[in-house]
Amino acid sequence: MIVVLLGPPGCGKGTQGERLAAALKVPKISTGDVIRAAIKAGTPLGIKAKSYYDRGDLVPDALIMDIIRETLAAPAQARGAILDGVVRTVPQAEGLAEVLTGLDRSLGLVLMFRIADEQLVGRLSSRVVCEACQSPFSGRNPGELHAECPKEPKGHLVRRKDDEPDAIRNRLTVYHAQTAPVLAWYRANNGPLKEIDALGTMDDVTGRMMRAAGLARSA
Ligand code: AMP
Repeated sequence: MIVVLLGPPGCGKGTQGERLAAALKVPKISTGDVIRAAIKAGTPLGIKAKSYYDRGDLVPDALIMDIIRETLAAPAQARGAILDGVVRTVPQAEGLAEVLTGLDRSLGLVLMFRIADEQLVGRLSSRVVCEACQSPFSGRNPGELHAECPKEPKGHLVRRKDDEPDAIRNRLTVYHAQTAPVLAWYRANNGPLKEIDALGTMDDVTGRMMRAAGLARSA
């Protein structure tokens, strides 16, 4: 099954996506992780994406579509994939539909994580991530910056450049201007759209997600 996770930055879709990927036994693809790795390695993609990324702007659709085309055609994704952070614009939604048609595949689920902006600013500004394994940890105090990652002993906890206050504000503005219309696009095009409340404990949200994905029964 190919699943698109939609929602504002900080809504928890990365962490929940890991759980869904494990339950469905398919890989999770995060374009944000691909871009961070490319910036770190200084590849042509990283060089082109860096200034957009640092400001909290979206990188151009053409770069994202190259990543998606290449990844979805790879054998590792033959059974499906969880797409975390794609799609973020209407042209990406159209592009993904085209790529899937070309591969004779279809979308199984578009899952929207609903949460208010006020909840997100606090989450993002207290988030640190492991520089090695990219795992996010929320609600941390600044003293924990540079501490060892609980999951990957070789990694240290750092703040993402786009989790600085100005970039957070910009990412939310960008989300409302460019990504929120994707929801309307899926509605208008009969996308397999389901919406869940992303407020609550991680396990609460996981339960809602599993029910939406048909992997658990409704309470
Ligand atoms: P994320 O890790 O998903 O929060 O993404 C971090 C940053 O990577 C975004 O603010 C964008 O600069 C870039 N990015 C990731 N995915 C996309 C996408 N689908 N379209 C455009 N930019 C993206």
